[in-house]
Amino acid sequence: MSSAELTKLDVIAVGPHPDDLEITCGGTLAKLVKQGHKVGIIDLTSGEPTPRGSEELRRQEAEAARQVLGVHVRINLGLPNRVLMDAPESRFRLATELRRYRPALVITTAGRTPAASPDHHQGHQLGEAARFYSQLTKWDERFSGTAPYRVPFFAYAPFPFDAELRNWHSRIIIDISDTMEQKLAAIRCYASQFDAERYERVRHFVSGASAYAGGQCGFLYGEMFALPHPVGGADLLAVVKGGGGSAAPVQLPGKDHLPMN
Ligand SMILES: [Zn+2]
Repeated sequence: MSSAELTKLDVIAVGPHPDDLEITCGGTLAKLVKQGHKVGIIDLTSGEPTPRGSEELRRQEAEAARQVLGVHVRINLGLPNRVLMDAPESRFRLATELRRYRPALVITTAGRTPAASPDHHQGHQLGEAARFYSQLTKWDERFSGTAPYRVPFFAYAPFPFDAELRNWHSRIIIDISDTMEQKLAAIRCYASQFDAERYERVRHFVSGASAYAGGQCGFLYGEMFALPHPVGGADLLAVVKGGGGSAAPVQLPGKDHLPMN
């Protein structure tokens, strides 16, 4: 299905560079697709220039990764890499896509990464701002004539190397045991960024982070999401059971799931 045929998405994930979303939440995006949801990715920049990449190469890699994850739509906003800024024009551009596709959930990468690109922190703020801008009335001309849309749910996909130890209001671990291989295969698509040696380091790091995240909830592999508010619920039992959406933990129910027990 081409993006032109899809007029509504269930989930849109936003990241500064192609490969950021694969690393932070690729397993969950693939899982959402398997679960029947319509999923889109918005890359804020091309990710170029980089030492070994090119615009065309990154486009091909991002498309290959999209296919591996099964994601329905992938849009590149073409905002400037390396100097990405949470500025009004960029907010308008991102919010226009949110108004166009009207997702129930927007996920944005989050965190400040002093050992990596400052675009990550800007993308975090830009995602929050665009989510708010999406609902604004009397400004339609700033959003290519699209109608206001209020995004009901918003979640962070934090970078695993954030400079800050954050006290998020809520953290959720999604079981990605059955899509971990897709996640790694999608990251592998970015050969211009990860040659064999670098990919091996990334695979080691991502696998370890996913095993740690998942292990906290009894899953082989997991991805952590955070919410800007506490988890609300009407049925405590349904909430603690994972809303009915969890795969069975690795350990038997009722037994401690921590491996060092
Ligand atoms: Zn990045």
